Formats: sequence, structure tokens, C-alpha cells
Amino acid sequence: MLYLHIPFCSSRCIYCDFYSTTAQEAWRPRFVETMVREMEIRKDYLRPAEPQTAESRHALRSVYFGGGTPSRLTEAEVETIFGAIHRCFVLQPQTEVTFEANPDDITPQRVAALRRLGINRVSLGVQTFSDPLLRLLRRRHTAEGARQAVETLVEGGIGNVSIDLIYGLPRQTLADFAADCREALSLPVTHLSSYALSVEPATPLGRMVEAGTLRPADEDLTLAQYETLLESTAKAGFDHYEISNFCRPGYMARHNSGYWQGIPYLGLGPGAHSYDGTSRRFNLPDLRAYCQAQADVPHETETLSLTARVNEFTFTALRTRQGLDLQQLRERFGKDIADAVRREARRSLAGGLLEAHGDTLRLTRQGLFVSNDVMSDLMI
Ligand code: SF4
Repeated sequence: MLYLHIPFCSSRCIYCDFYSTTAQEAWRPRFVETMVREMEIRKDYLRPAEPQTAESRHALRSVYFGGGTPSRLTEAEVETIFGAIHRCFVLQPQTEVTFEANPDDITPQRVAALRRLGINRVSLGVQTFSDPLLRLLRRRHTAEGARQAVETLVEGGIGNVSIDLIYGLPRQTLADFAADCREALSLPVTHLSSYALSVEPATPLGRMVEAGTLRPADEDLTLAQYETLLESTAKAGFDHYEISNFCRPGYMARHNSGYWQGIPYLGLGPGAHSYDGTSRRFNLPDLRAYCQAQADVPHETETLSLTARVNEFTFTALRTRQGLDLQQLRERFGKDIADAVRREARRSLAGGLLEAHGDTLRLTRQGLFVSNDVMSDLMI
């Protein structure tokens, strides 16, 4: 799996704590050059985990252009990065290639260019269909722009379209979010990701909440919005395959599912993370330092302890509909560890928050609403 972090945005949304910059024009050419160089230097990172061809390039399960806003790159810049991907890796017909885009950047010409390059999935940052809330969040697009972007993608031949919605927004009523769900599910999209807003202190939103100029959403209202999300997606025939992710049958996100299954991935770009199965590498979130690097880009590496790996495996598995397979846990980490996790699960099982199916533990519907508490209880 390959992740490419494109750290450019036209403006900053008030809630966002992802690494990105608005100083794009000056840095884009050097950034693209450096990303290509980083790819060439680090293309063997996945060597033990991904199958190799006779040419010794790695076959990728998925490629994900995230950010930031990848659609701020020009067509030529995306093409340059793709050229490097083809030199370093093998893309197969089933490789999922996702491109995150802002609705404003989607035009018929752009869609044709994305298709030509082999992009077969687009993830649109819609967030809400309420124009007043979009303005509050300082998103650049309008609700109508989001609807049009979906239509343009589908008409242009990219039928695998995912959209993001946020709930738990300040000033967002239950009716507002119910309308967002209705709108989203009436569009020809294959996938919906929907997360509760997290108010991060180092963002404009965090500062507004701290100063008392914006009231955060009420917790009970946020839970009621999640309930609305579950009901409306079920009614529309979407599979609920991960706590915050829903898809039409057959359209699970291969890339994100890989993260939840603990599959190693290579992350390129400032602020990107990589995982090789035992350690995690963090590229520093600093575009200038990234572009000025002479050899490998600035990064830190952390070797994960056994406990960290077990906890991560447990949390990510429990987020999915498949749940946590204790047999797999036993095979990876040993019988004592699997027994310890099973012991820690007793309270949630007795409280109806987890259910056991043979050797598999899954969140119940009630457990979905307090998933963080259930997962902390399982920490070893
Ligand atoms: S467009 Fe995305 S990455 Fe950029 S500031 Fe907004 S939420 Fe963050």
C-alpha cells in the first residue's frame, strides 16, 4: 500500500489539524521533485511484505493520494508522480487508486485527466450540505458545488466515489445532519465516511471553543446524529463495515481496510507515516525541510513494543464489522496475549457492549456508541 501526502490547501478549514500549507505556488515544483526522489530512495520499504514480480518491482494493493488537497496539484505534477509510481511499483487491474479532491477542483477535463492516469476512485471532502455550516467551517465549496462534483465524476467515468460527512458540528441540529445523510445517500456515491468532529486545541475552532465564542456540540445530540447515520445508511442498503465507514455492497475501501488489517504501508511526503509491521516511521511535518533534504527526508522512527502492537491490532480489528479474531491474535502474538485480551473483554461482554461468536469478538450496536471506552477496557 502506498500513501502520498500532498500538503497543499487553498485555505485552512477551522477544524483541521492535518499537516498542510497554503504557500503552495512557491513550493509545489520542488515538492514534486522531492516526492519522486523519496519514492525512488524508499521503494524497497515494503519489500518483505508485498509480493515482487520478476522485475523486482512491488505489486501494490492500493495507492492513496491524501492531504492536504491533492487536487491542488496540476495535471502535469500528478503525471510526474505517476511516472515515478510506474517506475518503482506495479499497478495491477485490481489496484485501488484513490485521489482526494475538493469539490471545486472537479471539472470534466480534470476527471478525464485523472482517468487517463489510472485513478479509479475519488474521495470528495463534502463534510456537509449546509451552506451556512460550510461557511462556518471555512470550506471553499458550496452544497451545490458538491452535488455537481459527484455528477461530473460519474458522468466522466469515475463511478467509485466516496464522500465525507462530519457530524457533531457546532450549530448543526439533528435535522441538519439527517438532511446531510439524505442528500449524500441520494447521490450516485459508492462509499460514505462519516466522523464526529474532534475539536483540536491547536486549531482556530479549538481556540474559538476555548474563548467561548463558539459552543461545541452537545454530546447527546452527537450520539443521536450517529444513530441517524446508522439508520439512514442501513435503509439505503449500505454495508456498515467499520465504525465510521459505509459502502454499497462490494465497494469497501481497500486502502483503509488495509490499515485496519495491519497491512504494512509506505507513506511519502511531509507528515506522512509508514509502517513495516514492527516499526513506524514519521516524516516530519515541515515542507521546507522536506524540499531541502539532500538524501532521505527528515523523519523519526519508533519501534513498536509488543504491547503497542497488540493494542493497535485489537483496536483496529474491533472497529470493523469482522471484529477481533482471537485465533489470529493467538497466531501473531501467542496464547498468553490472546487469553489476556479475552479476560479484559469480560466486563464489556457482560455489559452487552461486546458479543462473542466463537473466537471472534464484535462490538454490539450498543457498543458502537461507546466504542472508545470498550477499546480502552481491552488494553493490555
Ligand atoms: S481542505 Fe482538508 S486538509 Fe485542507 S485544511 Fe481543509 S480539512 Fe484540512
